[in-house]
Amino acid sequence: MSETSRLTFEEQAEVGSYFVANYPPFSVWTKDDVELAAKPALHSPPSPGAALGMYLHIPFCRKRCHFCYFRVYTDKNAQEVEDYLDILARESELYAHLPAIQGRALSFVYFGGGTPSFLSTRQLETLVSRLSSVIPWRDAEEITFECEPGTLSEAKLAAIRKMGVTRLSLGIENFNDQILEANGRAHRSPEIFKAYDYSRSIGFPQINIDLIAGMLGETESNWQDCIDATLKLAPDSVTIYQMELPYNTTISADILKKTGQFSDPLAGWSTKRRWVKEAFQALEAAGYHVGSAYTAVKDPSRTSFMYRDQLWQGADMIGLGVASFGHINGVHIQNLDKWETYSDAIRRGEIPLNRAYRPTDEERMIREFVLQLKRGSIRPAYFENKYGVRVLERFRNELDSLKAEGYLSACSADAITLSREGLLRVDFLLRRFFLPQHTGIRYT
Ligand code: SF4
Repeated sequence: MSETSRLTFEEQAEVGSYFVANYPPFSVWTKDDVELAAKPALHSPPSPGAALGMYLHIPFCRKRCHFCYFRVYTDKNAQEVEDYLDILARESELYAHLPAIQGRALSFVYFGGGTPSFLSTRQLETLVSRLSSVIPWRDAEEITFECEPGTLSEAKLAAIRKMGVTRLSLGIENFNDQILEANGRAHRSPEIFKAYDYSRSIGFPQINIDLIAGMLGETESNWQDCIDATLKLAPDSVTIYQMELPYNTTISADILKKTGQFSDPLAGWSTKRRWVKEAFQALEAAGYHVGSAYTAVKDPSRTSFMYRDQLWQGADMIGLGVASFGHINGVHIQNLDKWETYSDAIRRGEIPLNRAYRPTDEERMIREFVLQLKRGSIRPAYFENKYGVRVLERFRNELDSLKAEGYLSACSADAITLSREGLLRVDFLLRRFFLPQHTGIRYT
């Protein structure tokens, strides 16, 4: 791709995947590797000292947001939800007996979705008691729980706190009711403040709030209001994503088919970057520290995000739930992505895998390099120690191109550091570091 066409793509693209969540791209993971790579990895002992985490996918939501691209269900009845939770617990039992997992303690747990807080207090308590009796996680250093504000009652929040959750993540996305409505969100602003205040009062060690820059109908003045409201809440951590529209969202379908279902304006990439930049500037002025392309934290000495950092350094992770992703003994794995096939596999006593991929050492190195660059700065010595690779030489051309375009603020043996402009467009830039066979192909 020439520089001119790359810039055009960065400015104008609305429909398509932007976020780099893993490497190599998901599109090269295969069914064949389930037998060839994943099963041998699951049946081998773990690498000494490797950290282990667990991700649980709770795929239920009250409504499907118009920008959503996750595997979620809005039409399951109470019995189907119960069945899913039973299957999830049975999946954890299958993992617990595998040589790769047996006897290991969990360092971190992540309840994601979907909407984990969609579950009732009783369902959560039953699920947690079943899961933790199979793979203990009371001693995990970090337990994150994602919430949709409108699903939270005081009793449910108290139960979530009692489960040992250390990091409560509130999916606020926007503070304006019209914008929430236009984007198909289920919650409204009064629910945000009620949930936040109560969560604060019962002492969660860390509260993160999620925002999205560039939702359908976003305006300059409303975005400023969102920044002001965020500063007023003063959460421990703020995560801001730039709205992206992969092919399988309702808004993307509308744009591609020109059905005109959505008439509210959509900001382009340069506006979304500026909005995040302005939010980061305001947060920094209030004492926050920007810790990645998406996150600012109030006190870095007590606010970490272990799930992100451990994953980006190659930790093992059990991924439970339909379509969930995991990583065991150096192999990427993903579960079956249909409710029936996923559940049936577990009923047959099988780990319900759909596709897998064993990265080469070079691909693992590139994976860590690109993911860690999302934090804004990496240490070349880390890659020399772990992989025997001198990244300043290995990526000389790519780094020179970033420098020439003003996207690097430092590039030495001590650190490779992105400028703020580089950090704000990092997901576009990372593709430069991919191997040639992984560029120009579908990402997912
Ligand atoms: S709450 Fe999250 S997972 Fe659920 S529909 Fe909205 S974006 Fe998707």
